[in-house]
Amino acid sequence: MVDFQAFLEKLYWKYRDVNEGKVASYIPELAKANSDSFAICAVTRDGRVFQAGDVDQKFTIQSISKVFVYGLALEEHGRERLLQKVGVEPTGDPFNSLIRLDEDSKRPDNPMVNAGAIATTSLIKGDGPTERLNRLLTLFQRYVGHEVFIDVPVFVSERSTGHRNRAMAHLMLNFGMIDQKVDEALDLYFQQCAILVTCRDLAVMAATLANQGENPLTGEQALHPEYVRDVLSIMYTCGMYNFAGEWAYRVGIPAKSGVSGGILAVVPNQVGIAVFSPLLDGHGNSVRGLRVFEELSQEFGLHLMDLSMGRCRFEAAIRDSSELTAS
Ligand code: GLU
Repeated sequence: MVDFQAFLEKLYWKYRDVNEGKVASYIPELAKANSDSFAICAVTRDGRVFQAGDVDQKFTIQSISKVFVYGLALEEHGRERLLQKVGVEPTGDPFNSLIRLDEDSKRPDNPMVNAGAIATTSLIKGDGPTERLNRLLTLFQRYVGHEVFIDVPVFVSERSTGHRNRAMAHLMLNFGMIDQKVDEALDLYFQQCAILVTCRDLAVMAATLANQGENPLTGEQALHPEYVRDVLSIMYTCGMYNFAGEWAYRVGIPAKSGVSGGILAVVPNQVGIAVFSPLLDGHGNSVRGLRVFEELSQEFGLHLMDLSMGRCRFEAAIRDSSELTAS
């Protein structure tokens, strides 16, 4: 029988020396990332932790934040009102594309592309920028189970170079899809992307979604259970940039990746898994992350559409596995 912790360590050593891909550099501060960093972490819905590599190294969450802010917007506005502002269709376009914004409904296609994420963030309630930022920080704290902070140099770096995101926001202002406080919305979006997390944090966040919105380590409810399915559906169809279809086909787990090199994936009712490695492919997904997830999905039958006995293998592999073995 396969021991889950031993399997994670095996994956870590197997892919540690894969050096394909590039660190993101369009946000200048991200170019300083260490391309050797690599971590894998899994947290089960009952709070067992398995890990290998640099699981405590901090990095900015970037696009992965979009998932959680969308969940908060659902709680604040409900499905139907939110749908009027942000759609749920995958685009097949790069995450920072502007092209479709000027077509048809003028509504961003989904909350995982930048336009949709900025529109979503602009809807977060609060009396002024400080209150809205605190609301987001509190939200992320519920998911990770401890205080979170913003990487100010990354925030400033993106704020001063994020011209495409500014252009999108102004286009949406022109169409009346977001309100007048466009610079405030952009600042909040850049701040949410610059929140510092570790690979372990991401796995706990994923486990929280796997556990109907309740953080399995703290017992705190981070997202109303009613909206977990909406968030997971969007992750499944739109979470992996313009590789989302192939990811759904090959790996078959709701997931979200970010340009700093994180991938967070949720096997509902079972486990949250995260990988961190900053070397990205042309779509913006972590190269080592893709390999790790493909192999994990295959080995443990984690693909959601795989209705064979596969996922029993996962249950068996964690049952007798030791936790927290350092690699
Ligand atoms: N802050 C980044 C941007 O807006 C996030 C991109 C990403 O991680 O996909 O460009």
